[in-house]
Amino acid sequence: MNGSAFSTYAAVRETDFELLNGDLKTHQVTEQSQKSFCAECGTPIYNTNPKYAGIKILHLGSIDEPPNLDPRVNTYCESRLAWLSNLHQLADLDGGIA
Ligand SMILES: [Zn+2]
Repeated sequence: MNGSAFSTYAAVRETDFELLNGDLKTHQVTEQSQKSFCAECGTPIYNTNPKYAGIKILHLGSIDEPPNLDPRVNTYCESRLAWLSNLHQLADLDGGIA
């Protein structure tokens, strides 16, 4: 959980993961969930879950080139907010609301 209507992650094998700099701290949230984050500034980096052994669930903002990814699936759609299916019909703004 992140308190947002969206969470964007990239699932990668632990063997394919490389932390390029900094140190991480890990918090055991539940028996099924651990969150690892930057020890210095608290930026979330990845989650792990024994249900997905060998996989790190990376927060998309923690990787170098998220625009080059090819999204494959939406998950946990049973809790999707009803109005989200109409997002493509909204105006796109280059910046925030003026
Ligand atoms: Zn940091």
